[in-house]
Amino acid sequence: MTAPARARTSDELIRAEEPVLAHNYHPLPVVVAHAEGAWVEDVEGRRYLDMLAGYSALNFGHRHPALIEAAYRQLDRLTLTSRAFHNDKLAGFAERLARLTGQDMVLPMNTGAEAVESGIKVARKWAYEVKGVPADRATIVVAADNFHGRTTTIVSFSTDETARSGFGPFTPGFRIVPYNDLAALEAAIDETTAAVLIEPVQGEAGVIVPDDGYLTGVRELTRRAGCLFVADEIQSGLGRTGRTLAVEHENVVPDVVLLGKALGGGIVPVSAVVGSREALGVLRPGEHGSTFGGNPLAAAVGTAVVELLETGEFQRRAAELGAVLREGLTDLVGRGVVGFRSRGLWAGVDVDPAIGTGREISERLMREGILAKDTHGSTIRLAPPLTITETELRSALGTLAKVLAA
Ligand SMILES: *Cc1c(COP(=O)(O)O)cnc(C)c1O
Repeated sequence: MTAPARARTSDELIRAEEPVLAHNYHPLPVVVAHAEGAWVEDVEGRRYLDMLAGYSALNFGHRHPALIEAAYRQLDRLTLTSRAFHNDKLAGFAERLARLTGQDMVLPMNTGAEAVESGIKVARKWAYEVKGVPADRATIVVAADNFHGRTTTIVSFSTDETARSGFGPFTPGFRIVPYNDLAALEAAIDETTAAVLIEPVQGEAGVIVPDDGYLTGVRELTRRAGCLFVADEIQSGLGRTGRTLAVEHENVVPDVVLLGKALGGGIVPVSAVVGSREALGVLRPGEHGSTFGGNPLAAAVGTAVVELLETGEFQRRAAELGAVLREGLTDLVGRGVVGFRSRGLWAGVDVDPAIGTGREISERLMREGILAKDTHGSTIRLAPPLTITETELRSALGTLAKVLAA
């Protein structure tokens, strides 16, 4: 009998990744082994407040009891059928998700990028079949500094050279205009336009909140031009901004909404394209699909997520705690913070570059027990679980103040 292997330390585990794991990420040097609610614990038992929440995949915190219970219950009954057969969880999930988002139909997928790809395919098909665009001529207008995922088609219309470089040739059919610029958008739309695809708040770009009236303007322009408005709410949706969807801040209803991240409750990847019957109705059997999309485990967890959002409690918390976050960050302007943007419990904080890069500030926060992540340059993104308490949030703001003052 050999003795059981000694558990490896954080440093050992980080070093062990180096030769065997593709280097497509540069994580903070923390190795998480356990988590509950807004807190995570590393291999050595150090505790951290999670102020990133898996880029909003963990809106309900780690291991929310209702979500974990729904997952366990489903694990005991049925996990996968493929769409070759029906499963008893999918109808209820689609009905409730459509009702929650005020849309007609649901196309279940798995990851965010797949939802975006699916939205692009739906928009193109709609352009040919409903709008009458000549074959293979459809265009989609997108915004500069967008983030919609990592597939070859999606990076084809990214303006981030790191995301694109070395991955061509690229998919044609996209036009890029500045974000938050209705005149540029109007000029880019023509009779070939299938859709305008934008994020209602640009997350990866640094939580860029457009001017009031922009989303209304996009809705009016697309309606007038006879093209679809596709809103990528994969990060902004499902409670983060204080509403179920970020477009609700302007009472706008897009033709198609892309959801992901929090839809899987932090347990399984679940994404969806939700939209009007006119748009999603263009798909017929065999034209699009996914082996795992709409699987019963995903549908059970997704239904439990929708159930949490139906109460309105999480949207309310995001709005109320968002006010605390905004007030706290306002106090820091001029004291290490040069500016910030926020909507609900979601902020992009521009730190004085003299104090350090976003990465350095994130590392200092980590050593003080706060997990956050930089976006570009000196911008830190804050997006804690919506279950965080006011006391925990204030304590995180206090730690940020301390790190910036040091
Ligand atoms: C994260 C994200 C995606 C991609 O989702 P993945 O699940 O990582 O493929 C797409 N759009 C937005 C706005 C996102 O934040």
